[in-house]
Amino acid sequence: MWSLFLTILSVWQARRVFATDLNNVRLPTHLKPVNYQISLTPFMIPGNFTVSGYISIVVDVLESSTNVTLHTKDILVKEVVVGQVLGYKYPIDRIELVEELDFFVIHLQEPLKIGEQHVIRMRFISKLSDGLHGFYRSQYLADDGTIRTLATTQFEPTHARKAFPCFDEPQMKAKFNIRIGRTAGMHAISNMPKIQNPIRYSSDLPGYIYDQFEESVPMSTYLVAFVISDFEFNESELRQNNVTFRIWARKNALDQTDYARGIGARILQYFEHYFDIDFPLPKQDMIAIPDFSAGAMENWGLITYRETTLLYKRGVSPRSAKQRIALVVSHELAHQWFGNLVTPKWWTDLWLNEGFASYVEYLGVEAVEPNMKVMEQFITSELQNVMRVDALTSSHPVSVKVSNPDEIAQIFDRISYGKGATIIRMMDHFLTENTFRKGVANYLRHLQYKNADQDDLWRFLTEQGHADGTLPESMNIKTIMDTWTLQTGFPVLNVKRDYSRRAANISQERFFLNKLHQNGSPFKWWIPVTYRSCNNMKNPAHPDVHWLSQDHDWKMVFDLPESDQPVVFNVRQTEQSLVPWRSATMSFRYLKSMFQRTPAYGEFQKFMKHTARPVYRQHGLRSMIHNAHEDSLLRSEIIDWACSIEVEECCNNVRELFDVYVRSGRDQDGINENEIETADEDFKEEEGGEAIAEMDFTEAHEVDMDLKKAIMCNALALGGEKEWNQVWASYLASNVAAQKQYHLRILACTKEIWILNKYLNMSVNPQSGIRKQDATLVISNVARNVHGRDLTFDFVRSHWNHLKDYLGGRFERALGSVLGGRNTQLELDELRAFVKMHEGEFGAGQRAVEQALETTEANVHWMDTHYYYITDWLSQQNQIQAFTT
Ligand SMILES: [Zn+2]
Repeated sequence: MWSLFLTILSVWQARRVFATDLNNVRLPTHLKPVNYQISLTPFMIPGNFTVSGYISIVVDVLESSTNVTLHTKDILVKEVVVGQVLGYKYPIDRIELVEELDFFVIHLQEPLKIGEQHVIRMRFISKLSDGLHGFYRSQYLADDGTIRTLATTQFEPTHARKAFPCFDEPQMKAKFNIRIGRTAGMHAISNMPKIQNPIRYSSDLPGYIYDQFEESVPMSTYLVAFVISDFEFNESELRQNNVTFRIWARKNALDQTDYARGIGARILQYFEHYFDIDFPLPKQDMIAIPDFSAGAMENWGLITYRETTLLYKRGVSPRSAKQRIALVVSHELAHQWFGNLVTPKWWTDLWLNEGFASYVEYLGVEAVEPNMKVMEQFITSELQNVMRVDALTSSHPVSVKVSNPDEIAQIFDRISYGKGATIIRMMDHFLTENTFRKGVANYLRHLQYKNADQDDLWRFLTEQGHADGTLPESMNIKTIMDTWTLQTGFPVLNVKRDYSRRAANISQERFFLNKLHQNGSPFKWWIPVTYRSCNNMKNPAHPDVHWLSQDHDWKMVFDLPESDQPVVFNVRQTEQSLVPWRSATMSFRYLKSMFQRTPAYGEFQKFMKHTARPVYRQHGLRSMIHNAHEDSLLRSEIIDWACSIEVEECCNNVRELFDVYVRSGRDQDGINENEIETADEDFKEEEGGEAIAEMDFTEAHEVDMDLKKAIMCNALALGGEKEWNQVWASYLASNVAAQKQYHLRILACTKEIWILNKYLNMSVNPQSGIRKQDATLVISNVARNVHGRDLTFDFVRSHWNHLKDYLGGRFERALGSVLGGRNTQLELDELRAFVKMHEGEFGAGQRAVEQALETTEANVHWMDTHYYYITDWLSQQNQIQAFTT
């Protein structure tokens, strides 16, 4: 049918006649895509990993022009026709490829007619690459020992252009009609459900079956997805919203999909309620891909995940993995509205997309898994975590102007996700939950199927705040939030009480890790301040918000309680049990990393051991008192810390347990039904510690994978080659991705330099059994081990070109961990020399490298200022303790 319109053209030479502005990466705006018909036949045959494609794009002509400009990358276009929908074909003058911009330009001999719909048709060959982007292939080992291949997609941010020619910008929304060829025994899935009886075309290949999918809603190219695999699915029974909800996985991991299926469907319903808009598609698929670059991708109606963020095996996967699955699933489902239904106009507003999803993911999990207490954990996992990076001068504003793909890839970082989430949470608090939710719902309803920028959201929230009386009429959200999104860093508040007047003076200044920068910043913020007396902490009403303005350094607040009563400022940042401990161990670890290679480490270790011993006795491996989710996380935190500073009891316990695991084969996936019973959450909550207390001490810990990780890592650090080989064998034998990833982290815990060196080399050899997607996990974990740090730096320097070729952007982004953790002038000079030598080669890792450099400068300054003082203090304390214990 379509072949009637095609004109065969000869193979074009890439040539550029007119100078194109290479700094402007944006497509011209005279054409607006309306509808894509895409037909793809991927060949998954060794020696021929290619895709034969046909595309027909209907466009509106908004302005007259003689060129059609769209995106292609690594695609061989064989035939092109530009015509009116009803037949007239425009004569083509020539084709121009602007490789720097991924532009494919069709120059016509006469201008396109304004106001009419036209159609662009192309036949092409693209690659089914192994690069984890675009349309790519992934492999896994089936139970019968054969290697199976699947084909999948990852288009965000700029990779759809590798799969088919398209207008690859988020604002160019269109409807997609997708058709995929596959062989018998495979399934094809895409954003939309399959049409039952697809039409066969004369160009269809014999031996291939073609699946046609229903036309999509209007959406951006980066959200298009399709997967061809021999996977199977597990369907949710929850159907009150008429959305078919399925989890897909390789057949031998299908038993690990129950958890995601259960919470996924419930979280989807929670967000329908939260956003007050029905899920717009008839189905939602989620699929676990064996090779995957990011954590997960929110493709509309077909979310793709790395196996570790979707698959959970009760009794085998750690609880921390379960929590991560819940959060990632919730994050991607939140995007189905915030991001997919209303999409950023351009990547500059990526932070809004990611920050929002990174905040409401906690609300989704809190709703379906209240026992996890994720809202409390937000304080360490997001807020405190991002402050470390944001305290550097090389940090960046949340909202950054970006243009080329390297710059775009670079902003998928902790600032966009973590700081974005943190300031959105702050807004939720000062506006009150009800106003915030209504404002967001209005924003989504008014702009659905369209694009927006941050000012659009600010407008809807301001209107709602004024309507509800939760935001003073004289203020608007844009003024407040611009100080948080356009400026780098964050303020530290100093509060001075004036007891006689029952008042307090609050002042602000920017916080820097390196105090040498302290006087250099003119930045001021609009800051909501709340306070309460300690007696009144449990009062459920929102405390009044006092605003510290951007125009003033300080403000007085009055009506504080009497002078004998303590006052808590920033009420919503207070925390309980796990959270303060986690913040403490985070800071202890920093101190440890500063002292570890200095002569004072002995004093440091002695002091820390002394303080950790009683805590270890209470919460450590011999303790039987805890078992709730949060306590379990707290325990592994404490055990990990106690063993890492070599508290003797901890070391003995982990050695003993490691032997038990290995002897019984329990470090692998095989685990019997009894153990699964004891791992059951409900059982534990009902029975508390008592049921566990009756068990043998080794059995009790059998079921807790987070503890197991702490145990194995520390046992490996205390052991040698034998222990390492035992863990490696378990890694190879495991069928659970979360378990495999834990093994990879554990293997980096050894102190044997030669083993670490072997391990680094294995990470970049695909025959070694380590997947390409996991190579940077190995490299960064070896680098974070103090014994592997310099080794990794040497490894990176001597294999620079190979690592860049093999791992690309993921290697560049891992450079932060490789270069981190240094604190002497000599090391700083060495880093500077390295950065100079590779100037301009860091690509997506540019900012991570700058941050590592600045952190090292701050560390050197910190050591100059504090090292001798702390060392003296530690030795005094140790002397006092020697007398008192
Ligand atoms: Zn996201």
